[in-house]
Amino acid sequence: MVVMKFGGTSVADRASIERLMAIVRRQRDKDAATPSGVRGPVVVVSALSGVTDRLLGVAAEAGAGDAEGARHNLRDLRARHMTVAEVVTDQALRAQVQADIDVEFDELERIVSALGVLREVSPRWLDTIAATGEVVSSRIVAAALAAHGLHGAWVDARKAVVTRSEHTAAAPLFPETTVALEAQMLGPLAAGQIPVMGGFVGATVDGVTTTLGRGGSDYSASLFGAAMEAEAIEIWTDVDGMLTADPRVVPDAQLIGHIRFDEAAELANFGAKVLHPSTIAPAVKKGIPVFVFNSRKPEGTGTRITFDAPRTPVRAIAGKTRTVVVKIRSPRMLATPGALRAIFEVFERNRTSVDVVATSEVSVSVTVDDDQHLEAVVAQLASFGDVSVERNRGIVALVGAGLGESTETMARALHALGDLRLYMVSLSATGINLTLIVDGDQVNEAMRRLHAAFFGGAAA
Ligand code: ASP
Ligand code: MG
Repeated sequence: MVVMKFGGTSVADRASIERLMAIVRRQRDKDAATPSGVRGPVVVVSALSGVTDRLLGVAAEAGAGDAEGARHNLRDLRARHMTVAEVVTDQALRAQVQADIDVEFDELERIVSALGVLREVSPRWLDTIAATGEVVSSRIVAAALAAHGLHGAWVDARKAVVTRSEHTAAAPLFPETTVALEAQMLGPLAAGQIPVMGGFVGATVDGVTTTLGRGGSDYSASLFGAAMEAEAIEIWTDVDGMLTADPRVVPDAQLIGHIRFDEAAELANFGAKVLHPSTIAPAVKKGIPVFVFNSRKPEGTGTRITFDAPRTPVRAIAGKTRTVVVKIRSPRMLATPGALRAIFEVFERNRTSVDVVATSEVSVSVTVDDDQHLEAVVAQLASFGDVSVERNRGIVALVGAGLGESTETMARALHALGDLRLYMVSLSATGINLTLIVDGDQVNEAMRRLHAAFFGGAAA
């Protein structure tokens, strides 16, 4: 059985949901041909695109005492869902789902009216409000599948995903979730239905609604996949898959057919927004492959993420700007035991995480992404020696699990950079990423040169 997760842009409107249905139907037909017994797939959906942001905006308005503004926005959102629900062609099913949408939005209006008086929105209420996006999107998709002969059956995520109670980022309880999921899913599956559930949403053991954190629908899909021991998890989104570089920087970036989980995690650090690997960890750890596909181009081959893709020296090139380099120079101090600890404690105290580190006998250089507390850091480091700050640096990185085994690759990378100035170089201990610190305004050029060296194509 396959778990198919559709993100916000894949359920944004009627046309998207029609595409979704065609994709699900194709999978359904494939499943019919396999002897596995249970006929999938299981479908997990995000809220319609933009809806979670708007619901959080509604909560903020209520918290600020603007209940009227909040209700106005809710009416707008209700209308959008009603229109999208027209994708349900069967009269009776459509009337039912529209009534369900009304119930959810009536309830939300009452909640925001009350919160508007209190002028305060606790995280608990924030979750109840945000969760509505997935509750209604999943109801629409379930009804649409039912109306089109695909036997969609709505599953309430609040009954299927059991979490702890840290609202807005609640950690799922795996054993409890497995039991609850099976209780909710096995009935519909045995009846030949396609269970459809909202991602992102769960509830505590006491039944209080929670959410798993932004982008949490991938996490939900991964949990189901792991709990149900799915054959595969498919993340349907609006890009073809993961690419060898950011296509806005490197126009001839190529689709990565197969990538290792740790490589994908490394790329996510560089802002690859396709999906956050930590959210798919539960499934990948169990050996379940995760695929990323484009719902606008369902015939594409996508990207497959597993723990054990064959090692290759370079899988992708990543880059980011706005890196700050902090250098501490001190001939006396650095030779003494404990000096590095003392220096890193300064960063820790000021909640600034360090990215890349290089040391010599007399100096330590570190990079940080977040300069919010930099002033305090610099002031406190001054007791160790001369401190200098270089802003506007950038990082380019080669990511590949076979990188550490290939000196040839590193030589080629440095050669490809040509006349670009290099400030720091670091090969991660896992040998999975070679990080190069360059001038911030040369990051893009460096990415293009490296990409051309390893993946061909023209260096701009
Ligand atoms: N709708 C939620 C969000 O926008 C969860 C998700 O889409 O993954 O964060
Ligand atoms: Mg999303």
